[in-house]
Amino acid sequence: MTYRVDIEGLDASILMHPKVWEASGHVENFTDPMVDCKQCKARFRLDLLGDMINDKKKKKALESLKESLKDDAALLEKISKIQAGSVENENFETLLTDNEIGKLLLPELNCPQCGNKGTFTSARQFNLMFKTFIGPVEDSGAVVYLRPETAQGIFVNFLNVQSASRQKLPFGIARIGKAFRNEINTKNFLFRTREFEQMEMQFFVKPSDDKKWYDYWKTERLNWYYSLGMTKDKLRYHDHPADKLAHYAKEATDIEYQFPFGWGEIEGIHNRTDFDLSRHQEFSGKSLKYFDEESKEKFIPFIIETSAGASRSFMAFFVDAYYEEEVNGEMRSVLKFHPKLAPIKAAILPLVNKDGMPEIAREIEKDLRRNFKVFYDDKGAVGRRYRRQDEIGTPYCITVDTQTLEDKTVTVRDRDSMEQERISVNKLTEFLIIKLSQ
Ligand code: ATP
Repeated sequence: MTYRVDIEGLDASILMHPKVWEASGHVENFTDPMVDCKQCKARFRLDLLGDMINDKKKKKALESLKESLKDDAALLEKISKIQAGSVENENFETLLTDNEIGKLLLPELNCPQCGNKGTFTSARQFNLMFKTFIGPVEDSGAVVYLRPETAQGIFVNFLNVQSASRQKLPFGIARIGKAFRNEINTKNFLFRTREFEQMEMQFFVKPSDDKKWYDYWKTERLNWYYSLGMTKDKLRYHDHPADKLAHYAKEATDIEYQFPFGWGEIEGIHNRTDFDLSRHQEFSGKSLKYFDEESKEKFIPFIIETSAGASRSFMAFFVDAYYEEEVNGEMRSVLKFHPKLAPIKAAILPLVNKDGMPEIAREIEKDLRRNFKVFYDDKGAVGRRYRRQDEIGTPYCITVDTQTLEDKTVTVRDRDSMEQERISVNKLTEFLIIKLSQ
């Protein structure tokens, strides 16, 4: 965001007027279908239930369903169509979430928790927003929601930011912050949590330019993951078919990463049209029209959204960077983070704790700390110290040794190649700046 002249930053509040969530459609539509097991009381998201049941059992359930429907040619044909038309493992999800078929398929399934068959309730819609109350009175007039996404804070502040920054279309507003969702099943570490960090950007464009900018951001965002070293083969787009688009979207794609447990969305890119600004204008009674000086026209801009999970994509970077390798007969665990992502950019290590080496190392640490997050470590053999830094992904280890005392040079060890080069102490800042900007 800070590298671009056409994007402004914003921090908006977590608790907003409840009407914001009516206008956005969250009160009505931000729901997941869920089922309960009557036996063990476990609760599951219907669209994810299939992922928790093994393929053999799913096949058996489908066969049994088809057998019971043998006289209903229309339904059998519908099932075959869904099976033929969906990608990969998605057809079971489509069958389960289909109103007609899901009802019949559910009783054929075993609960993933207690193993009992036919114990599911029928599906109910469950709103994912956390509700609380403003002030001391817990009545419907005092309801507020913890925001389930950061985007709405951008929409309602659109004209404030636009007029304060004097931006002209096309331009974007970006923000990073906590979002809260009452997820039915949290799982897979940071992938799905109830409190998570989002980084969203809403790009405001002329309505006729929507396709151009949607395609631009689709490419740009995938390139962002590439540029930070994520394995290309483990990234893909998942374009949403027209019949599965969210209520606000004209076109949508997910950027997915291949996690050890399967492909999962890390970012969504959506053409949200003028849906959001029109709704906020309607619910607030305040105009959110943009005045285009060139054409002298007033209109509601279209919005292209890039909506990424900071915690979920952190997990993808984390998984992608993790390696176990054999080095000289010993195993090392290493996080090969891109230097820009590494939490610590360099470690400063005096080879021994004498002969003035710690003093020089501390000076280097103090100097570098003004610009970079660095770490000083003088505990244990230097080889072990290198390994500790490998484990946390520190790209460079700077070692002060005997030669430093003579010529003011240090060794800089590269985490991935493990090669060392000698660099003058006064060139270290420049060295790190260059490495971190690549
Ligand atoms: P999912 O289908 O996985 O529930 P979603 O389509 O509802 O995700 P969006 O509403 O598009 O997700 O949110 C944008 C991004 O926020 C997602 O791409 C993801 O990275 C992140 N995100 C959404 N829900 C969670 C969560 N419960 N925990 C962590 N990150 C999340």
